[in-house]
Amino acid sequence: MTERLQAPRGTFDVLPEDWDARTALEHRARDLLESAGYRRIETPAFEATELFARGVGEATDIVQKEMYSFDDGGGRSLTLRPEGTAPISRAYMEHGMHKLPAPVKLWYLGPFFRHERAQAGRYRQFWQVGAEALGSDDPALDAELIVLLHTLLDELGVRDLRLLLSSLGQPGAREAYRDQLKEYLHAHADRLSSDVRARIDLNPLRAFDADHPGTREVMKDAPRLIDHLDAADAEHFAHVRALLDKADIAYEIDPTLVRGLDYYTRTVFEFTSEALGAQSGVGGGGRYDGLVQMLGGPPTAGVGWAAGIERMLLAGAEAPHGAAPVELFVALDDGGRREDAFATVVAARRAGLHAEMELAGRSLKGQLKQADRLGARYVAILRAQEAELRDMSSAEQEPVVPDEGEDAVSPEAIVSAALRGLRGVA
Ligand code: AMP
Repeated sequence: MTERLQAPRGTFDVLPEDWDARTALEHRARDLLESAGYRRIETPAFEATELFARGVGEATDIVQKEMYSFDDGGGRSLTLRPEGTAPISRAYMEHGMHKLPAPVKLWYLGPFFRHERAQAGRYRQFWQVGAEALGSDDPALDAELIVLLHTLLDELGVRDLRLLLSSLGQPGAREAYRDQLKEYLHAHADRLSSDVRARIDLNPLRAFDADHPGTREVMKDAPRLIDHLDAADAEHFAHVRALLDKADIAYEIDPTLVRGLDYYTRTVFEFTSEALGAQSGVGGGGRYDGLVQMLGGPPTAGVGWAAGIERMLLAGAEAPHGAAPVELFVALDDGGRREDAFATVVAARRAGLHAEMELAGRSLKGQLKQADRLGARYVAILRAQEAELRDMSSAEQEPVVPDEGEDAVSPEAIVSAALRGLRGVA
């Protein structure tokens, strides 16, 4: 027996009933971001593997374990995008956006791919909405982006929201701190998880992310990067906090917040929602002033965030759903012709109505039932020469008057009658 075909593990179909909520979210995000000057960009679903290896970082979980990489047949390795910031930085360079007036503000929404252990709220293909601002290191941009994501989550009714905030400083101070942290981790290596122990030298900061109880114990007393920021970084961070205070955004400083990507500098943040359980991260981001240069471009400041569509919907308030009601349903009675029904539905749609016609060979009774199921406001019942318009809310039924000088009722006459009814004109 052949195996039943199913969507691959960790993926899902976005079914018709799922789209109302997703479309509403997309429109909210677009309105919010575009009124703050962000413009939409979409990059390809796959990119050169090297982009992520260099941009996200060789030692990160994403690059080491989670990328869907494949040979494109020409000996070139490509990867389904696991995140959006590296591709946008690539596009920024490729299209000479560094020559545009700074900051260049961009937003995106689309699918991303990570080979993770699939569970509730964690998928292998998931969708993100994200925003990035390149070309300025002004702390007002960090704060603006945080406020925008806060507003979006708030509008979506995401419950039990917390904002965790920290600063990672810049590479210089971070290097010195990393050495200190490595020394500390080596000194306590016997209590760490094997995973963390194996990567002490490669990625010591990752130890803060571990779930392993022994590792968590050790990390409680570990030296903290936030205590080792240089003066400029500390000042930048203080600015960001002051602006968030001005905007009345509550946050918690979390010195263990490192986020799984190498490119972050200075501000990092994450919004969590208790409603999500174990996978509590709903959206996050930070500043990445070194990324564009790391990818071979000019020195460029950048800051941004990404938020998971599925997690926002899971943690958000129930969105209204159900298809928009049908305004005109075109039914056929004895003698009515399918061509006329078709022409009527086309004319109705051209006039901007949500119109449907009978397409399953039902009896007239069955058609009225179907119109009712669709929530139709009017039903046009077509016969050989004449037609009637039934108001489904009052069950009143009236003949449609043919155009002057005509015997048969035209599609346009039916649509006009429906429009008069919908607009409440007698
Ligand atoms: P990250 O790029 O890891 O910071 O992810 C940003 C946001 O994308 C997270 O806060 C989640 O909402 C979402 N996200 C990341 N990975 C997944 C996944 N595997 N499944 C579903 N959502 C995800």
